[in-house]
Amino acid sequence: MRQTQWSLTRFTLFILTTVFISTLNAQPRVINTPTHRFVEAQDGVWLGTGNGSVYTMSNVMVLVGQNDTLVVDSHVTPTAARALLDALPALTDKPVRYLVNSHYHFDHAHGNQAFPAGIEIIGHEYTRQKLNGEAGDVLEETTFRSFSEPVALTVANLERLAAAETNSERRSRLQERLRVQREYLVAIAEVQPTPPNITLTDKMTLFQSVDGGSREIQLLHFGRAHTGGDVVVFLPEEKVAFTGDMMLPGLPYMGDGHVDEWPDSLEGLKSLEFDYWLPGHGPIMESKEPIDKLQAFLRDLWLETGRFYREGVSWGEAALQIDMTNHSAGFPQISEVGIDPRAVRRMYQLLDQRR
Ligand SMILES: [Zn+2]
Repeated sequence: MRQTQWSLTRFTLFILTTVFISTLNAQPRVINTPTHRFVEAQDGVWLGTGNGSVYTMSNVMVLVGQNDTLVVDSHVTPTAARALLDALPALTDKPVRYLVNSHYHFDHAHGNQAFPAGIEIIGHEYTRQKLNGEAGDVLEETTFRSFSEPVALTVANLERLAAAETNSERRSRLQERLRVQREYLVAIAEVQPTPPNITLTDKMTLFQSVDGGSREIQLLHFGRAHTGGDVVVFLPEEKVAFTGDMMLPGLPYMGDGHVDEWPDSLEGLKSLEFDYWLPGHGPIMESKEPIDKLQAFLRDLWLETGRFYREGVSWGEAALQIDMTNHSAGFPQISEVGIDPRAVRRMYQLLDQRR
């Protein structure tokens, strides 16, 4: 239980603290719909975020072309994806032709099934194997379960809080949160993991017709990182990269990560020429400095964890003792000794495999 609470509170906090910091210089175009907020990073290049009225959990990128639209990531449930599809006409009347999955995680890919038949879903070969069951049942894995199973408890807590609240304004806010979480709980039960039908292993380039020419869209895998199949979507002309969860403004989840290989994969990301990067969670970012910070954190974490592993300390105990507070300046969510036990368990698995 402690593990779950740790991750959910940290994860939520981090999203809340980063979502309001915009780093765009020029005044970007913003479009609000009943469910989404879209910010235009470059002409026809949008970062979409749920506004809280539907539980979406992750960002999407929307590329609007002359004839069609490409969407990157599908949110956390079919319900969230349908809300996104309903919101898109506020940006464009061009139909969705492609959906790209940055990686297989539930909060980025469990909306896949809501996209209309006939559109192509593109992802890394590993993403396909995770979502079609070849590489295990994602609905039975720690990542999905540790985030999804507490939702019923959240609903029960909100029910109790709303019933006990006497202030009408606070009560209606609680009731709205309750409505969203109840809908989320129902939506989770509808999920049928839906894999990409077009895959890549290293690189794929698409061209989308835009006003006055075509937009080059590079799908790039720089090696294992946040998962075994992270894809960065890079627009060389617009100088924009969508990084998924391989690179976030704060600390990413590491429960399926390859912490040992991740820093090298980030070198590939750094080698790209971009002015903005759009993360899987959080606001549009400019500076590449956070990439250095994450690399330093991951390298240290791998060394620290290896030390505990060789001393024979269990992963559960190591998770309580690993001290990464020397990185708290770069990652404010590190406020005390100890790290997410799911990350340590994962690193112990990788270390076991090396023996
Ligand atoms: Zn992820």
